[in-house]
Amino acid sequence: MSKGKKANEHEPATTADPPDGSPTCVLVALPTEKDRVESAARAVEINPQNAPSMAFWGLIGGVLPPGQLAVLTGKKWGAKVDLGVSFMDTTDTTLINRILSHANVWGEDGNIRFRHSQSGGEIRVARQASGYWSYLGIDALSIPSNQPTLNLQSFSMATPESEYRRVVRHEFGHALGFPHEHQRSEIIGLLDFNKTAAEFRRLYGWSAATVREQIFEPLSPGEIQANDPDAMSIMCYQFSGNCTKSGQPIPGGLDLDPADRKFVAVVYPKDVVPPGPPPPPPVDASGKIAFDLSTKTITAPAGWKLTPAAAGEYVEFDLSGIINDRIRGRAAARIKDAIDDADLGGAFLWNGDRVSGVRPPGMEGVDWADFLAFIMAIFEMFSKMK
Ligand SMILES: [Zn+2]
Repeated sequence: MSKGKKANEHEPATTADPPDGSPTCVLVALPTEKDRVESAARAVEINPQNAPSMAFWGLIGGVLPPGQLAVLTGKKWGAKVDLGVSFMDTTDTTLINRILSHANVWGEDGNIRFRHSQSGGEIRVARQASGYWSYLGIDALSIPSNQPTLNLQSFSMATPESEYRRVVRHEFGHALGFPHEHQRSEIIGLLDFNKTAAEFRRLYGWSAATVREQIFEPLSPGEIQANDPDAMSIMCYQFSGNCTKSGQPIPGGLDLDPADRKFVAVVYPKDVVPPGPPPPPPVDASGKIAFDLSTKTITAPAGWKLTPAAAGEYVEFDLSGIINDRIRGRAAARIKDAIDDADLGGAFLWNGDRVSGVRPPGMEGVDWADFLAFIMAIFEMFSKMK
């Protein structure tokens, strides 16, 4: 838990300091080794990507005791995150909805939904005077249901919007299993331990041990994804020039940045939506147009007009320019027959005025642009028909 004192009793903040009066965040570990080992086993069950990578095992070339292994394990949820959030000390739906709206910003790019749960949510929010803190991802499942898993000290409707962005989004990032970005070794390397310890003692009353654990302990292999360290991440602390070797501040995150959004989209990818509208039902007709994909030769009645809607995975040919109903019906049927003959059967459908289709299975080896050019050649012929 935070050892944080309020910061407003201190010297004026530099631009890189957290705003006056705000405690900084502490990521909370499970209390006992037994808890940590059990949670690590559950983490790998829920999401196999939580396990340390094969490359890592190759590096250490051996076996680790369970306690150490637990520390190396990621804590992300399964591919789709749909979590209940309960509030332990408020029923104010205006406040609850405001907090959830910021939590759900993660869902703009990831497959994530935090929904209000009257009780028993996997995430349990309190506003105790113990700072800002959260457990990491599925570690929350190890916490007794009468205890909070995430704390937003004193958050109310009077709290500025900028703090909702900076703090609520950050804490729910932890709830999603994202650790502190400043614990990437590349960012730790910019910090001077003694200067940082002095600064965090001054600002928040932290002990050197807390500074070591919360800032200087490098992330484990299971917690790092293959992205570059990001000093603007919402998961990165702000450090003033008083903390760094160079004297330059580390900006830290005030909101999700583009790299955070890209990252969450990779860790929790959105469901793939099938492309294009559903094709219309086929209409039976008779007639014959012959074409051969391999030689790109076409045999068709003269003078039919067709226009493709767009090039791409989904194509649509407008036959409405063919005034004669009988010829139009035959044109569509003949296209369909020809496609069947070319082993593309069932892919193209006719609804009276339009032939539409999607790229069928088995056409992966056919150049799609060539195929559309081929269809265009058919249009040219149709356009001459009366
Ligand atoms: Zn944090």
